[in-house]
Amino acid sequence: MKRVAASTMIAILAVALVWAQGPTQFHPGFNLFTKAQDVQLGQENAAQVRKQLTVIHDPFLTEYVTRVGKRLVSAREAQESGFPFTFEVVADPSINAFALPGGPMFINTGLLRAVDNEGQLAGVMGHEMSHVILRHGTNQASKSKLIELPAVLGSEMAGSSMVGKLAAMGIGLGANSVLLKFSRSAESQADLMGSHLMAEAGYNPMEMARFFEKLNAQGGSHGLQFLSDHPNPDNREKAIEAEAHRLPQQNYGYGTGEFQRMKQVIAGIHEPKPKVQAQ
Ligand SMILES: [Zn+2]
Repeated sequence: MKRVAASTMIAILAVALVWAQGPTQFHPGFNLFTKAQDVQLGQENAAQVRKQLTVIHDPFLTEYVTRVGKRLVSAREAQESGFPFTFEVVADPSINAFALPGGPMFINTGLLRAVDNEGQLAGVMGHEMSHVILRHGTNQASKSKLIELPAVLGSEMAGSSMVGKLAAMGIGLGANSVLLKFSRSAESQADLMGSHLMAEAGYNPMEMARFFEKLNAQGGSHGLQFLSDHPNPDNREKAIEAEAHRLPQQNYGYGTGEFQRMKQVIAGIHEPKPKVQAQ
């Protein structure tokens, strides 16, 4: 009996050890916004984006990125965030995507052209989604406007534009917006949480690492856009790989089966000359 008890103890300890080395846990940073304000801000910004950039209204493409996105949203950490994610395609040759606070995500045709498989697309989308879940945009804004923000956020917002009020404080949506420029530690978090979302959705997290590696190796003005918005943390690929090993064993066999058709549709799209960057 004693022997059985000892071996049981050893088994329990072994399980506990695996748990101790389990997936990274995240603690959202300091934030003066409520989650509802993240959503309001993102939706107002998204309305501006739709006026300033060329959103493609191709039902197949929109449905395709939405299928991949919804699959990622089914993962636990996205579910628990409760944010209403939406997915749209923008005609822009640069390899990029961005997600606004609260969930609106825009994916460039240049990114759809550049990915080698659906896992790589899911990798970028999972990374962007993680910035939203971890509220990195409004966290950065909170840190940069610590003194001025409480009065603005606490005032009666009904019927008034949050975007306008924040723009008056210098928090716009432009290329250098604090809402879309992330620190290296925020990047690491988005990589790791993105790998969780991918794994649960059935995509191999290593495809995210491979795609970032490819962007790095390629360089060039198109690929650099993503890396300038999402600066490379140290050992990016190794960190994603290590996290992937900490995840419970997963079956990475998921795919929509529509990747090749997406590539064909994208090949037929000619992006217009870029409009002025969203401000
Ligand atoms: Zn990022």
